[in-house]
Amino acid sequence: MKAWVLHGIGDLRPEEVEKPVPAKGEVLIRVKAAGICGSDIPRICQNGAWSHPLIPGHEFSGVVAEVGDAADASWLGRRAGIYPLIPCGSCMTCRRGYYEMCRNYSYIGSRRDGAFAEYVTVPTGNLLPLPDRIAFEEAAMLEPLAVAVHAMRRGGLSAEDTAVICGAGTVGLLLAMVLLEAGVRRLLVIGRKEAQRQAVRKLGLPADSYCDSGREDAAGWILDHTDGRGGDLFFECVGRNETYALAIQSTAPFGKVVLVGNPFTDMGLSREVYWKILRNQLTVTGSWNSSFLREAEDDWNYALKRLAEKRVRPAELITHRLSLGELGRGVEIMRDRTEDYIKVMGIFE
Ligand SMILES: [Zn+2]
Ligand SMILES: [Zn+2]
Repeated sequence: MKAWVLHGIGDLRPEEVEKPVPAKGEVLIRVKAAGICGSDIPRICQNGAWSHPLIPGHEFSGVVAEVGDAADASWLGRRAGIYPLIPCGSCMTCRRGYYEMCRNYSYIGSRRDGAFAEYVTVPTGNLLPLPDRIAFEEAAMLEPLAVAVHAMRRGGLSAEDTAVICGAGTVGLLLAMVLLEAGVRRLLVIGRKEAQRQAVRKLGLPADSYCDSGREDAAGWILDHTDGRGGDLFFECVGRNETYALAIQSTAPFGKVVLVGNPFTDMGLSREVYWKILRNQLTVTGSWNSSFLREAEDDWNYALKRLAEKRVRPAELITHRLSLGELGRGVEIMRDRTEDYIKVMGIFE
């Protein structure tokens, strides 16, 4: 089969490789859509994966093409969304059902072969049946959508809240979608790109709900738009020191800061900013990955339900649709920022 294989840092090659064989309890997925995640760029270009060679790609959907031993044969031919994390099932957090915090997990597309290929093997426990009305490209966005749902839930939205999202990449914008769907009273978004401004407008938010932090002082802008109080809920979706400090400084008394963005560097606060956590009695919390328990109320099923009912439309964020052969170019666009993008999506035959 055709696949993109990462042989080492910055060494991603299109190759002809052996089609994988599903192990016991696994199925073979014919990949139909696979998104390039922001986290794939440092994985491919900067830090490398858990081991090499590795086929990246953890945001994907497809059709079950083969069923391995002891796997439920009724999956054959069915359309599926895929939870990429494979928990150990026996560590302390797994036993309590918090698989996203498993200490000994595998992960499709970072620790074992992923979806930048014609086929990928997946344990049946990681499959979600996809209703026909959900397109493959939408289902390939279930993973970041579930991450956004998880962050929203970590924030514990209440009806009176003004929420601020800093960072309007895929997760930030999906978070905006799920917050609006959940009925947030007021939403302010801080981004840096023209495509992000347009995406925010498409969500139906008024023009003054968006701040381009490259042109305007975001801290002052937030105060201007919250009667000088700051936001009640602040989602930091960038992972830089400046935006971390902005989050602490721009959150109202008793407000909550949810840290979502993977850190680019060491993170620290000046004494003056640190004081704000104490004086404003802020709650600062992390959000990591998403929950998948195969239950109606886990983050994935929450996302799937809203996707099926067209109450969220993540496909609006797809700016680039590329074939399997063009995925390498997609990685370059995101690495070099040569084009304005939000979600770069692989659509396979
Ligand atoms: Zn991702
Ligand atoms: Zn575990």
